[in-house]
Order: sequence, then C-alpha cells, then structure tokens
Amino acid sequence: MVQQACIEPGQVRKEAAIKTSACVYHFIYMKEKIVKNHEYYMRLALKEAEKARMIDEVPVGAVIVQDGKVIARAHNLKEKNKQAYAHAEFLAIQKASKKLGTWCLDDCDLYVTLEPCMMCTGAIILSRVRNLYYGTKDPKGGAVDSLIQIKQISHLNHHPAVVSEILQPECSRILTDFFREKRKRPKRDPASFRKSAMLKETADTENKNDQNT
Ligand SMILES: [Zn+2]
Repeated sequence: MVQQACIEPGQVRKEAAIKTSACVYHFIYMKEKIVKNHEYYMRLALKEAEKARMIDEVPVGAVIVQDGKVIARAHNLKEKNKQAYAHAEFLAIQKASKKLGTWCLDDCDLYVTLEPCMMCTGAIILSRVRNLYYGTKDPKGGAVDSLIQIKQISHLNHHPAVVSEILQPECSRILTDFFREKRKRPKRDPASFRKSAMLKETADTENKNDQNT
C-alpha cells in the first residue's frame, strides 16, 4: 500500500509564495542586469564623446554591439574630416558595415550619447539597426523623439526599438560643458578660419613634399 504524503493547504500556499517572490527577485535582478549592460555600453560611447571633446569637436560618441561584443566605435569628426556627415553614429555604422561585410545590421544595437539627427536616423533605419539606445534628447535636431517622432511614421519599412535617456545626466553634461567653454572663447570669423585652415593644409602638403624629396 502506497502511503501518500500529507500536504497541508498552508504549505502549498507558502511554497507558491516563495516561488512568486523568487520570480519577482529574478525579474528585478534581470532588469538591473540589463540596465547595467546598457550603462556599460553607453559609458563606452561617452568615452568616444570625450575623444571628440579633446579635439574640439562637438562631443558625441557611439558604439555598435553585436552579441555583446563591441564591433565599432566612433566619435564626431565633422571639423577634422571637413564632412558635414561625419557624425559619430554615421561613422560607427560605416565601420560596422565594413567589418561585417554587409549593409544590414539587423542583429546589432547602437548606443549613442545624443539623440540622432535626421541623417543618422535615416542611416539607422536603412541599415536596419535592431535597437537604438541614446543618452540625451536633442530638442533642436533630434529625429527620433524630438523634432520628428519616428514611431509616428507607420509606413517606414523598419523601426528600431528605441530606449532613451541612458546615463542622461552624463550625456547631457558633456555637451553643456563643451558649449559653455566654447562661448567663453573669442568668436572666430568663418572666412578667416577657412583661410587659416587652407594655409595649414598648404603648409602640411609642402612639408610632405619636402620630406619625399
Ligand atoms: Zn547625425
């Protein structure tokens, strides 16, 4: 004769309660882990922004992550490259595509310190970036949630999942500090700036020619 274990109703309730609280703790743990991961990658993007600041570029940085691995990093190089499109996330997309040998980044996540502009949002959509994580909003030029809200454009063939305001205070501070410092400096005349840049370029070319002869 098989003797059945006697289970008190109270015991079942107690075990169920333990199971539920374990699930809740696991959920909180996983959520914290995910948030920490996002912060980790955003800190790498902030390091890129710092590199831009060091060379007097508007401090914006970006990284692209695939399977938890950083496959591309870039920072704003508009002045240095003399290219209006040399934005951090645009350059990061170029690097990632080159590295993977494809334009399609549908298993990649992009972390960028500032809300992308129209051009970069277009590049993110066209390259099918899976998730977009950005630090701080750009009310004047942001084309994800601010100036344009991409989630309102239903007929786009791709919508990245968007999470905003990751390390927002840090991402915002690096920009406000940069522009505050810049305002303190005497304003440069664009014509004389272009002239001095051309003179420098000519001098560099002459130096190179001298070295080659
Ligand atoms: Zn941009």
